Amino acid sequence: MNRIRDKDIPRLAMLTKVNQDDFAKLVSMGLIDHAPAMRLLVKYSFQKLKNKKYYKIKQIVKAVADEYGVTEHFVHDSVYTRKKRLHYCTQCMRLISARDNIRNNGLCDDCVSKNIIVD
Ligand SMILES: [Zn+2]
Repeated sequence: MNRIRDKDIPRLAMLTKVNQDDFAKLVSMGLIDHAPAMRLLVKYSFQKLKNKKYYKIKQIVKAVADEYGVTEHFVHDSVYTRKKRLHYCTQCMRLISARDNIRNNGLCDDCVSKNIIVD
């Protein structure tokens, strides 16, 4: 995964509506998660190029991947995968996986364990 470059900061500040200096400071303090930031940049650049209606999707994906130093898969994923829904344990509100949400009927493993009667 490529990291945020200095030249990405003005655009990220614009996209997140955060003051540029503040954003740069957060990046230097390591308080910004690089993966979702790259996703945001990739999405923005992809959409901008797509709106020109001039290039093929495949060409845009490759160009954007090369620009940001990410894989074509990452570009595709950023653009086309919808954000995953988050699930929380209905008892303790801890974040749980979609699989646990179904299998445990909305509970985390700890809460299921607490409810097991051992005799
Ligand atoms: Zn729980």
